[in-house]
Amino acid sequence: MTTLFEKIIAGDLPCEKVFESDHVIAFHDIAPVAPVHILIVSKKVIPRLQDAKEEDLPLIAEMMQVAQQVAKQFGIEKGYRLITNNGENAGQTVLHLHFHLIGGKQLGSLA
Ligand code: 5GP
Repeated sequence: MTTLFEKIIAGDLPCEKVFESDHVIAFHDIAPVAPVHILIVSKKVIPRLQDAKEEDLPLIAEMMQVAQQVAKQFGIEKGYRLITNNGENAGQTVLHLHFHLIGGKQLGSLA
């Protein structure tokens, strides 16, 4: 089944893109929880972080690099949170690996 993010990657659904490379795309979350809320998404479909294999580690490292770069681009490099929801219990709603880059305000506790 095609994921929502695959449709965005393919350009079949619009997004407010802030970064794109061969392996990674980043765009604004449609329902931001903070002034800056950007999704960093792998182009390869890996449902959850827990499904990532050793061969995916360079991709995940690239996603971390993109997070650094986008944080700088939005002026939040001094304080941000980078999280992934893994599975139902964590509230994951889109089964396609992504990290939430959140910042631009004083953030509260984690859970
Ligand atoms: P998850 O709940 O899987 O960790 O995160 C999915 C995120 O995707 C949510 O924060 C949700 O607001 C965001 N989202 C859902 N649909 C869309 C959409 O069509 N466009 C964008 N830009 N974000 C979306």
